[in-house]
Amino acid sequence: MITIIKRGTKDVTTCKTCGCVFAYEREDVINEDTDNYKAFREYVTCPQCNTEVVLRQVK
Ligand SMILES: [Zn+2]
Repeated sequence: MITIIKRGTKDVTTCKTCGCVFAYEREDVINEDTDNYKAFREYVTCPQCNTEVVLRQVK
């Protein structure tokens, strides 16, 4: 039987600007409050073109 000892923490996303596919971990995700804490967005920075790749945005 196969058992997970430690769950993987990496997610993969694609940069919509340059097409780079990269893996990131929770610690790479930047949380940014917008609109006086009524909204927020989560993003990671593309390692190739340094564009913000938004993962989640709440308005
Ligand atoms: Zn990119």
